[in-house]
Amino acid sequence: MVSRILETPVWEVVDSIAHEEVTAEEYTAATLERIKKVEPKVHAYIAVIEEPSLTKAREIDKKIKRNENTGRLAGLPIAIKDNICVKDVKTTCASRTLENFVAPYNATVIERILSEDGLIIGKTNLDEFAMGTSTEYSYFGPTRNPWDTSRVPGGSSGGSAAAVAGFEASLALGSDTGGSVRSPASFCSIVGLKPTYGAVSRYGLVSFANSLEQIGPFARDVRSCALLMDCIDGYDARDSTSSNRVLGQFTDCFDESTSGLRIGVPREFFEEGVQEAVLKTVWGVIHRLEELGLKYKETSLPMIKYALPAYYIIAMSEASSNLARYDGLRYGFRVPDRSLNWNDVFSKNRRQGFGAEVRRRIMLGTYALSAGYFDQYYLKAQKIRTLIKRNFDAAFKKFDILLAPSMPVLPFRMGERLKDPLALYMCDIDTVPANLAGIPSISIPGGVYQGLPVGVQVMAPPFREDILFRAGQLIEESTKIDKTVGEFTYV
Ligand code: GLN
Repeated sequence: MVSRILETPVWEVVDSIAHEEVTAEEYTAATLERIKKVEPKVHAYIAVIEEPSLTKAREIDKKIKRNENTGRLAGLPIAIKDNICVKDVKTTCASRTLENFVAPYNATVIERILSEDGLIIGKTNLDEFAMGTSTEYSYFGPTRNPWDTSRVPGGSSGGSAAAVAGFEASLALGSDTGGSVRSPASFCSIVGLKPTYGAVSRYGLVSFANSLEQIGPFARDVRSCALLMDCIDGYDARDSTSSNRVLGQFTDCFDESTSGLRIGVPREFFEEGVQEAVLKTVWGVIHRLEELGLKYKETSLPMIKYALPAYYIIAMSEASSNLARYDGLRYGFRVPDRSLNWNDVFSKNRRQGFGAEVRRRIMLGTYALSAGYFDQYYLKAQKIRTLIKRNFDAAFKKFDILLAPSMPVLPFRMGERLKDPLALYMCDIDTVPANLAGIPSISIPGGVYQGLPVGVQVMAPPFREDILFRAGQLIEESTKIDKTVGEFTYV
């Protein structure tokens, strides 16, 4: 069973630690114990940072005893996706090529968490270089869904989501290029936010497709998700795409009323390939909101039908250029044979250092960018991107939020989609539009269908994460899912 203190909402635990009702050390030790119990079945972590976390927890307890000021995350064990740099800790991106790479500096989000007295409890598993939707493409082996360990946790930030859902961490960070925070949040029945492009610094995040991705927070409840977002967001001079807009405190937004919130239901998100169970659950949520007095209207964003191919062309093109730096000569995996010439070493290092999916994307991306094909693929995809953005702009003139499924399917069985990359790519149809448009989007647990979680996606105009949190809390209150009923309760 999950211990009482681990079940307490994280935003309440911070107060309990500050008021010495529980010590940071006890809370961290309980989390570490839970990790030991759950990990053999779930494998959410690539590395657990045990002793340094306990030492830091004791320091926080001393600070509290001395009545010194402590940060907003004081004593909370936070799990970090292993494509975000933590100084002096390995950052592997779940790839053989970076298996032994130790980060020489902290990502900005890590500095901010540390300055708020959060504890970095470990680095979590992901699809290699965040390319995937199931966390099965990891060099270190797959992560399993704590609700049902015969199924995938979603991806690519599957380790972070599984850690939070399995009570192996209080909070976690993931990255979302085309759905990698929202997909595993949906499959593991937790809250996951993809912030507005530019709201959170990407400094220290290993790039996959930089025009699309954002680091985003995971939590078991909406308020705790807002708390982590408050601590990591804001301008950073070290990321040239960072916005200098002053963002409010999202934890303060919950007092504002949600009445009068206009909900749009874009039909394109409910069409092709969306499973019946998902449709039923998401419509169930919409009707519960209606009972609470909110009005919804169906609408159409016609360009969305081109979102998936546009996303994959842009993401693969950017990936092919970003991953050119892994040649094995300056750092990363290198074949032991020293007699080879430069060309052979270079291609062998890359062939053996990268997994099949990463190689596929580098090749397709290189093709899409090559002379003669650039206009046909990359440029065209960028034009579609602009049209999608315009569709969203028009929709947000009529609606405050758009509501849709997070994932078109229920968590599927391990291995089920591995032989068919296209079947896996299709899982991203509902998440990629928000990345192409740069808008914020959150996945909230919407229900459990025959023991399997279904997430509801809420999208809002740029920098309106406050509306997402408020609407999210309303959905959370009207849904009331027992987060301790999954298979992991018994491990
Ligand atoms: N599943 C998508 C992909 O494979 C998104 C990945 C991500 O958001 N990092 O590209």
